[in-house]
Amino acid sequence: MTQSIHNQLNSAQELIYSRSNIRRAFTDFDETDICGIHRLDNNIVVVRNDGSEQVLPIEPIHTAYLSFTSRLKQFFSYLGPNYRGPSLWRNNAYVLFKGWNYSHALGHTTIHAQMQKRWADKFTMVDNQEALLSLLQSDQADLGHLIAPDGLMMPAKQVDINSDIDETSTQVPAAEPYCSCGSFKRQLENLDEFQQEITGYQPTCIHMTWFKKYRELLVKRTQVRDACNGTPEKCVAWWYAPPEDSTNKGKFVVLHTKSGAQAPVHHWRTYKPNESFTEDHVWDLFFNMMDAGYVPFPGSSLPQLSSIIKKKKA
Ligand SMILES: [Zn+2]
Repeated sequence: MTQSIHNQLNSAQELIYSRSNIRRAFTDFDETDICGIHRLDNNIVVVRNDGSEQVLPIEPIHTAYLSFTSRLKQFFSYLGPNYRGPSLWRNNAYVLFKGWNYSHALGHTTIHAQMQKRWADKFTMVDNQEALLSLLQSDQADLGHLIAPDGLMMPAKQVDINSDIDETSTQVPAAEPYCSCGSFKRQLENLDEFQQEITGYQPTCIHMTWFKKYRELLVKRTQVRDACNGTPEKCVAWWYAPPEDSTNKGKFVVLHTKSGAQAPVHHWRTYKPNESFTEDHVWDLFFNMMDAGYVPFPGSSLPQLSSIIKKKKA
């Protein structure tokens, strides 16, 4: 009997009503001693090994599932070498790098980061999507994912590789967003089941959320810069030192000036010198500084500041 109970959830339901999502929805939920979970009316029924049953409403679990699946990861999670953002590949899709360089103080020495550096400018040379994916997502490389938040633009017809046809003229957009990660793929494959479970459901993932936030940041930065005719006086320079070990956070340092990006060292001030910032503060700091009319620059692009930052990061 317990076997059949366990199998009553379809693929989408198994992903939504996972033990961890139930715990995210009900913090005192006991994840142990469960022999089955099934769906009944607007509830799930959790059956324990001793035969007892716990009935829980599905709505909070939907909310927990959605907010976990589309949570915003920290700013450096998907930046490539030299703080490189998503790189346009083709078919309206971008290579999204995993932030190997920023995961650890020695992250840049990992084989993954080294391969990213070698490949960062060469992905466009791989013209086949399957080949690109096996390069990006192989266990050894694990470089990142392919993502198309506005939908892939697939070639409308087979293009003869020996001809000189301009591929862009034969492409039609597919409106559905796409990400090559496992989570997004599972949602796409079981979309009907997801939509039966959650009305109007659309696939999402952590990469999609991060990409959209990053694009929002770039758009806003352009707006702020354009508002001062491209030569802003109010500027921020930032640096990041990744964590030394997994129990610590990295260190994010911000300097600001009202004398332009090229201003000499003595025109710059540390932002909130008595507070320390980590990667977890970065999104908010960027948006707040831009709200105040400041344009952010990576400190590494401002050589006149290199001497003081060595002291700040230490
Ligand atoms: Zn994804």
